Amino acid sequence: MSFENQLIDWRRELHQNPELSLQEVATTARIRDWLQSAAITLLPYDLKTGAVAEVGQGDKVVALRADIDALPIEEATGLAYRSGNPGVMHACGHDIHTSVILGAALLLKAREAELPGRVRILFQPAEENFGGAKTLIRAGALEGISAIFGMHNEPGMPVGSFATRGGAFYANVDRFAIKVQGKGAHAARPHEGQDAILLASQLVSALQSVASREVNTLDSVVLSVTRIQGGNTWNVLPENVELEGTLRTHRTEVQERVRTRVSEIAAGFARAFNASIEVTWYAGPTALVNDPEWAAFATRVADDAGYQTSTAALHMGGEDFAVYLQQIPGAFVSIGSESRFGLHHPGFNPDERLIAPAARYFAALAEKALQHL
Ligand SMILES: [Zn+2]
Ligand SMILES: [Zn+2]
Repeated sequence: MSFENQLIDWRRELHQNPELSLQEVATTARIRDWLQSAAITLLPYDLKTGAVAEVGQGDKVVALRADIDALPIEEATGLAYRSGNPGVMHACGHDIHTSVILGAALLLKAREAELPGRVRILFQPAEENFGGAKTLIRAGALEGISAIFGMHNEPGMPVGSFATRGGAFYANVDRFAIKVQGKGAHAARPHEGQDAILLASQLVSALQSVASREVNTLDSVVLSVTRIQGGNTWNVLPENVELEGTLRTHRTEVQERVRTRVSEIAAGFARAFNASIEVTWYAGPTALVNDPEWAAFATRVADDAGYQTSTAALHMGGEDFAVYLQQIPGAFVSIGSESRFGLHHPGFNPDERLIAPAARYFAALAEKALQHL
């Protein structure tokens, strides 16, 4: 079987058998089997899911990372190799990333004697719920690594295209929950209560002014209220309303300013309406910040590999790879996958022609990075 077809076969097998974050048991077993069948050394880290392999010898170490988890989405592509696991789908293309990095591992194995160091290959669980990078770090998988590289497929870019940027790339992700407590009453006697629904709806409007009126328009910020819940019938004013949403930013100062303003506005509303409002923040991944030199290096290698390269725009999504980049310099890159439907869509269908060239690219990138160190 050709190299291209082997990687497509593996990708389809992963695609047909998707597993959710931290449940990637069969996926891990497959990855381990494939690596072992290529005589690639598996490192004995204590991991429930995910795998770490290594190729080469010597003191210098660079890392390649693929994420391996899927999403709780019912697939609607109608493909022959669609998910056989109801309600679970590789809708973010982590099956593609895994086959790309497996391919890079095979190519590096074939050049093992020539490599001027070691390439550690990380198959990371749980990217989607943002715990996987920490799990690998805690297990010690980052020890000795001087530079780390990873990719995400980009459905809006054609196959053969490549983009990255130095500095901030993916966003700081914050989740917030707001509890509005008013006073319940008969719907016909609102003056006896404190209408939590009216208060919550005014709060939603007021929060929109933080992003549009209190942050420099040249800074990126998104504040979305995504859930609002209160009441259970037509003739009772409920006592409580819950709001939930997300804040996305690239700069810490902007993130902190918005968080502070949301709390201040909530406190002001609570006072004005004689109600109680509680805001809770849950920190997600921090902004992904590429090392400018490694981002430029990765782009030069992509140019040499024949990719159409460009500077990536800022991305408002979150990416767990950010956690590695807080400890080790490196670069995260976008590779075109040309799907009509985007990431996390039940119809997402990336173009498999990206896989083999991307595998060759990452093998070349790892080897050149070792030479460069
Ligand atoms: Zn995703
Ligand atoms: Zn993803």
